[in-house]
Amino acid sequence: MPIASTNRSTLQSSISTAAIGRGRKPPSTKAETLVRATGVTHAALRLRLDSSALKQNWHWLQKMSGTATGAAIKADGYGLGAREVMNWLAAEGCRNFFVSTWVEAEALGNIPDGTVVSVLHGAGPDDIGTALASSARPVLNTPQQVARWKEAAPGRPCDVMIDTGINRLGLRTDEVHLLDGLKIETLMSHLACADEDSEMNAVQRDRFTAVAATVGARRYSLANSAGICLGRDYAFDLVRPGLALYGGTPREEADGKIRQVAFPEAEIIQRRTIKAGEACGYGATWTAQADTEAAVVNIGYADGYLRCFAGRGAASIDGLSLPLIGRVSMDLLIMDASAAPDAREGDWVTLDYELPSAAEASGLSQYELLTGLSERLERRWV
Ligand SMILES: *Cc1c(COP(=O)(O)O)cnc(C)c1O
Repeated sequence: MPIASTNRSTLQSSISTAAIGRGRKPPSTKAETLVRATGVTHAALRLRLDSSALKQNWHWLQKMSGTATGAAIKADGYGLGAREVMNWLAAEGCRNFFVSTWVEAEALGNIPDGTVVSVLHGAGPDDIGTALASSARPVLNTPQQVARWKEAAPGRPCDVMIDTGINRLGLRTDEVHLLDGLKIETLMSHLACADEDSEMNAVQRDRFTAVAATVGARRYSLANSAGICLGRDYAFDLVRPGLALYGGTPREEADGKIRQVAFPEAEIIQRRTIKAGEACGYGATWTAQADTEAAVVNIGYADGYLRCFAGRGAASIDGLSLPLIGRVSMDLLIMDASAAPDAREGDWVTLDYELPSAAEASGLSQYELLTGLSERLERRWV
């Protein structure tokens, strides 16, 4: 079977699939793969991942929703590592996992007992062979997908997406008669504006309630992370959080409840003194007013730490703050290390990456901050 490219590299997909085939635990990221393959003893960059925060976030979402709580683990678990997220959450009682593509579903390997994976992009013209051989089930999104599934897999359970206003994926509400004869496990819809106080939220909820009254399914599901914060009348039988599991704050109701999960860490490669009047970095955009102790750190925009952090980013070491000075390079940052006189080559710094504030500083969304982190960072769960 040819392996389609995903947002993770083809190399990674083929290596993981081969590793699963040999019954060996697949390396979680390209960083780990390359470290293993090259015999280098340490990856120079890492993403420290706090499993207790992940679990606690899931439990908070479950308590808020008061109903069965799944997990969106598409895009490799928002960049954290889908399979590891699945393992941690399955052990807490999470049963439903959502990926976007069949490649993502298959890359999970043998999934924990009692769990189910749903593929959000559904069953396209080239997916049927994979879908029939897979234990995952499609979320059917279009009349074409519904017809295809009825023909290829009569009587076999599936999920279905109904469009109640986002006009992205899903059957229109006047197309639901096409669903007759399907064995629907979860009927779902998706909110367009759940992170805002929009009138559209209640409109979508009410449309979904109306559809649910006419279309038989074992369960009904509407809310993502932000939708869970809207209240229990949005929760139905199953909720599908993603962002908030991983430390994102989707709405103010979650302020102070969600813990940071992902901590990018990088290494100091050089310490130097920038003399008063000298500039640093590309474009010489920052000039030292006085002699300034600087630390050069091995992360940059190629790692997903984008140029919009210039003038706003920072890192810390032992609780001391090191502001970013000058531009972000491809693989390097220059930090003002005045506050940390003892920090030296080989020391690790933790970038300021608490999602709501990093989003505010960078102008990137909390989602982009997670999913943009490159494979060069070794994912390390603690
Ligand atoms: C990604 C996704 C989710 C999770 O959304 P968050 O905003 O990350 O909580 C839920 N449902 C669907 C259909 C999705 O595509």
